[in-house]
Amino acid sequence: MSDYLIRATAMGGKVRAFAVQTTDIVEELRTRHQTTPTATAALGRTISAALMMGAMLKGKEKLTLQVKGDGPLGQIVVDANAIGEVRGYVDNPAIDLPLNVLGKLDVSGAVGTEGFIYVTKDQGLKEAYRGSIPIISGELAEDFTYYFAKSEQIPSSVALGVLVDMNQTVKASGGFIIQLLPGMTDEEIDQMEIVLSQLKPITAMLDQGATLEEILRAIVSDVMVWDQMDVVLRCQCSRERVEQTLISLGRSELEAILLEDGNAEVVCQFCNEAYGFKGVQLQELISKIS
Ligand code: ZN
Repeated sequence: MSDYLIRATAMGGKVRAFAVQTTDIVEELRTRHQTTPTATAALGRTISAALMMGAMLKGKEKLTLQVKGDGPLGQIVVDANAIGEVRGYVDNPAIDLPLNVLGKLDVSGAVGTEGFIYVTKDQGLKEAYRGSIPIISGELAEDFTYYFAKSEQIPSSVALGVLVDMNQTVKASGGFIIQLLPGMTDEEIDQMEIVLSQLKPITAMLDQGATLEEILRAIVSDVMVWDQMDVVLRCQCSRERVEQTLISLGRSELEAILLEDGNAEVVCQFCNEAYGFKGVQLQELISKIS
């Protein structure tokens, strides 16, 4: 089944829930960026978070997540929108670390435990919303849980996971966000916390073929899925946009590139697509600059 996302309510409307499967998207990112298992996990977890946060937006709204930790991975940048499109990269995709003490991919070691997560939401207003929170664990799910509590004042439980196979391909990737709306009793909250603490990793459930709805049903009762949508990797780059960027460098800069290199190659940071420009094509762009 291709990647998808569901929006649901549960517990008679006292819980709002999102769940996403991103296995294909994260595998494609892995091949495009040649990420190591640790980098794949860090990028994949952020991809799942961004898609679910995108699903909280409306219409043409979009958001950018920047995870800027002090680890060797450098920055993670992910763009997502309300219609399930996502793209992303990490600064150092080749960084790999030994497994952590739990025998898991050391995401917090790669991301770092000091730094900030920035959330920028473009909601079509004059100024974009920008929220930030300090990184508290670097494992990312805890960090986004903290973000929702601090920046949006919504008690939430966030799970994010990427299961990487022996051959480094992505076996399963996904996540869920459970948000408590007013009305939950302390008993209901306690009960849910017990269930969450005993829950299998989301990637194990996805790997065993569980649907997103089944995963939510394992956590909360009375799940009502009110929306399901496909999610896809989609970059906004194009040859036309790259041409505009080159033109914006100005005549003298382009002439210098032509003189020194004879041609140019521009690689999109997000999708690693390479756009080549031969000498004559560069000349053509130069001629467009008045
Ligand atoms: Zn691109």
